[in-house]
Amino acid sequence: MSDYIIRAIAADGGIRAFAATTKETVEMARSIHNTSPVASAALGRLMTAGLMMGTMLKGEDDLITLQIKGDGPIGGIVVTADSHANVKGYVHEPTVLIHAKPNGKLDVSGAIGHGELTVIRDTGMKEPYIGHTNLVSGEIAEDLTYYFATSEQVPSAVALGVLLEKTNHIRQAGGFIIQLLPKCSDELIDALEKKIASITSITSLLDSGMSPEQILEYVLGDFGLEVLEKVPAQFSCNCSRERVEKAVISMGKKELVNIIEEGEPIEVNCHFCEKHYVFTPDELKN
Ligand SMILES: [Zn+2]
Repeated sequence: MSDYIIRAIAADGGIRAFAATTKETVEMARSIHNTSPVASAALGRLMTAGLMMGTMLKGEDDLITLQIKGDGPIGGIVVTADSHANVKGYVHEPTVLIHAKPNGKLDVSGAIGHGELTVIRDTGMKEPYIGHTNLVSGEIAEDLTYYFATSEQVPSAVALGVLLEKTNHIRQAGGFIIQLLPKCSDELIDALEKKIASITSITSLLDSGMSPEQILEYVLGDFGLEVLEKVPAQFSCNCSRERVEKAVISMGKKELVNIIEEGEPIEVNCHFCEKHYVFTPDELKN
């Protein structure tokens, strides 16, 4: 597994930054869900964001879920990540096909349409923290930038990208999140904005062979970049027969009795990893 995230600071802690390379993770999701090119791009971008936002979590068992619901043909995307750079995700309509944009890029915003982004942070408290914002473009990076600014009051630059081979396999995937903390000066913000504006796309940087470290060095090298941590990242689903059993039990006695009386085994699929779990009527009786 060659995917990883780096966590860094710059400007004496005035800036915090995350950068990730996620090619293997997105390829894994593509092969599990058999996603079309535009669905691979949409899911890959949101999973890359989820991974970086997962590493912002403080607690060992904390989880973050990003949900996009839109009126476009893809329907929606769900991604869950933990604080150890494990991520899983799926899209509602993985086979969606849609014309590329005039510039040849995959039309992620066209596939998503208008809608809402929901961020659910589960930190083991009674109630999870839930933030909602409207989608501003459906391109995901811009939507998250808007989310950070309005819901968390943290000015941020978010770049996310997925580049495909002609075979539709994942050629590059990755991104960065750079956040300005309150002690940032106006001069610093201006200089940083200029630097970020000079980047054409995150996938072109990755495709030129730059590592996440080199990408952050390029953006923040003039501001005293200090890399704090490098974390291996991967697609990982934590579903198990035990968990699925609990979900089946939660259907309620009446529903279960109906199924048992029909005498046929039932199959339950995990949305995230497409694993099948079969329960026979005898197992359901237990
Ligand atoms: Zn699963």
